Amino acid sequence: MNNADLLARSRAAVWHPCTQMKVHETLPLVPIARAQGLWLYDFDGRRYFDAISSWWVNLFGHGEPRINAAIASQLAQLEHVMLAGFTHAPVVELSERLSALCGGALGHCFYASDGASATEIALKMSVHYWKNRGRPEKTGFASLAGSYHGETVGALAVTDIPLFRDAYAPLVRAGATVPSPDARGAEAGESARSVAERAAAALERWLQQHHAQTAAFIVEPLVQCANGMAMHDPHYLRLARALCDQYEIHLIADEIAVGCGRTGTFFAHEQAGIRPDLLCLSKGISGGYLPLSIVMCTGTIYAAFYDDATARGFLHSHSYTGNALACRAALATLDIFEQDVVLDANRQRAARLAELAAPITALPQVRNLRQCGMMLAFDVASTDPLYARRFFAAALERELLLRPLGNTVYWMPPYVMDDADMEWLAQRTLNLVQAVAP
Ligand SMILES: *Cc1c(COP(=O)(O)O)cnc(C)c1O
Repeated sequence: MNNADLLARSRAAVWHPCTQMKVHETLPLVPIARAQGLWLYDFDGRRYFDAISSWWVNLFGHGEPRINAAIASQLAQLEHVMLAGFTHAPVVELSERLSALCGGALGHCFYASDGASATEIALKMSVHYWKNRGRPEKTGFASLAGSYHGETVGALAVTDIPLFRDAYAPLVRAGATVPSPDARGAEAGESARSVAERAAAALERWLQQHHAQTAAFIVEPLVQCANGMAMHDPHYLRLARALCDQYEIHLIADEIAVGCGRTGTFFAHEQAGIRPDLLCLSKGISGGYLPLSIVMCTGTIYAAFYDDATARGFLHSHSYTGNALACRAALATLDIFEQDVVLDANRQRAARLAELAAPITALPQVRNLRQCGMMLAFDVASTDPLYARRFFAAALERELLLRPLGNTVYWMPPYVMDDADMEWLAQRTLNLVQAVAP
């Protein structure tokens, strides 16, 4: 196999995700032969710095020896067994450790393989909880304007990104959207905290009207990633938590992207000092190795399903629920957080990234530099709808994988960059922003 051969065969046989395939008449696919650490390599040895963690999944670089070893040793024991009626050590240990990371507040873990399924599981669990509790009219959902919770038909009910939803609208039972606390929405002189208060007041007005028919409010804590890395003040989550309690609505934290240390704490919601009723995890939890998602819930929710009647049980399954290899990769990932004191090391990295980004912010076309832990983003004042595509192509020419969301350029790198890596990333990004005409 070589680059040209792989590209031709891929275009002929593979339907790539989130892609207008015709684009690849002019913008070539990127062939990847292997990867190590921060770098992806093609068959000719051309390399790309993976500054977006391969779509937000990778945590400790590619080919991490400890995760490789953990998967290999699990492979020698047990690759997979059905989880209905059966159990195994990796799924038990992972559930216990995740529960401990939540201080025991979310003590029950339900497993699936991708983020959108985790969203659907949380939505179904919430509605079924209210039905079991004698409130069958509570079936509606609210999410934030610009929310992204996955692209399956069920998850699209709470995904407010028209491009992803419009073609499938006849299939979707759309929930309501309430204003986002996106700090970029600040009026002159307004703080991020008062934007959060304004958005929470709007949530309250909506709940006053609709709480009796509403099961849950779902939110991406601190950063709405797919919505152009929209960041908000943690105070919003405190206010939302109080409102959900007051109006008897579940709070679902979708930490599929923001979990696993991206925001500086292991879970994003910790920064608000609250706990959700349901928590969705995926992406980084397996270190970026294997498909795995988890919905964690409170004992109160779990107890509402615990009964003699099968129909009161939670009726959901996937063939690969609780896959042993994926759970073992996740356990190795949690080990690395401890062994390498990753959250502390990331505090230093995040501070250095902020310093290094200063010259980029100084450019006249750059707006709204913002950062939350290991995620840093800025907007480029451009009216060209093809800006993101041009930037992506120019970045690849400079050995850099950066894939802007519209006019928002962002870093969401693996947690293994040393000082030289960060300087390289910042210098190349600066050059790129200067080189790509807005
Ligand atoms: C990626 C993502 C999802 C969907 O996960 P998939 O594994 O792509 O289905 C859901 N919510 C958020 C916040 C995400 O970033």
